[in-house]
Amino acid sequence: MPTNFFSTAGKFHRGNLHTHSTRSDGVLSPEEVCRRYQAEGYDFIALTDHFVGLFDYPITDTSPFRNDRFTTIIGAELHTGAMENGYLWHILGIGLPLDFTPPDAPNFRSVKDSESGASIAQRARDAGAFVCIAHPHWSGLNEADARSITAAHAVEIYNYGCVVDNDRGEGFFILEHLLNGDRHLNLIATDDAHFNTPDHFGGWVMVKATENTPEALLAALKAGEFYSSTGPEIKDIRIAGDTIEVDCSAAATIIVQGQGTSMATLHGNSMTAVNLSLERLSGSAWIRVTVVDRAGKRAWSNPIWM
Ligand SMILES: [Zn+2]
Ligand SMILES: [Zn+2]
Repeated sequence: MPTNFFSTAGKFHRGNLHTHSTRSDGVLSPEEVCRRYQAEGYDFIALTDHFVGLFDYPITDTSPFRNDRFTTIIGAELHTGAMENGYLWHILGIGLPLDFTPPDAPNFRSVKDSESGASIAQRARDAGAFVCIAHPHWSGLNEADARSITAAHAVEIYNYGCVVDNDRGEGFFILEHLLNGDRHLNLIATDDAHFNTPDHFGGWVMVKATENTPEALLAALKAGEFYSSTGPEIKDIRIAGDTIEVDCSAAATIIVQGQGTSMATLHGNSMTAVNLSLERLSGSAWIRVTVVDRAGKRAWSNPIWM
């Protein structure tokens, strides 16, 4: 077991890792996007405008919008190549240099023989970024596509904009295929906010760090020291022998998922500290935890490798 980041020093910082502005197809300026997220109680965002020629390959410098209670990570949504279905890749690079080299992606249509998704993901990771496969369901990517992105740190398993706008917002199925193939990936919930529909403030990450700086947040993201949420809080997860102990905000259901069909579920009233037996998950290489509140809002732990 790695160190339990829930019990280390620091606090949880709430952030949105997927957002657009007028630098691509969003409707608000970068400054106003930052203002609204801070006003809504976020500690940080990554502005991830579409990195295509149509918008002059934007990597927006959001550092002027940082203050003593809010920070930003420089990023972009990277597009290139084609997935097996012929559509462009959408890959989040969070923590990119401002001079990251563009691929040949003049617009949202794929260019024959352009750089692969695997290659741009690796370049982003090598440049220091936290790399995520965006909205797998909406993209229509298949398992082979997902496997090819060997540089990925995480899969976007909840994209609130896709939930709101096309009901294709979840990515658990492809993530679990990759986990079952022994790929140690984490998971993120995001907004993918463009602010042209009610696509904002619905999915976020809670990152444990000792300070709210881009460097500390990025290091914690890469280390998997975070969880994802649409509402509930996860306060601690401890494994003691064949038992998992979960501390959280008031929950109606707590589920532990593992490989194949293995799972353990507890329904109850306003549960804030529970123990679940891992007996039915014995032999699973990984487990993960879902907390559901009375309103149906969910929070998700990263996979824990056993
Ligand atoms: Zn996208
Ligand atoms: Zn996007």
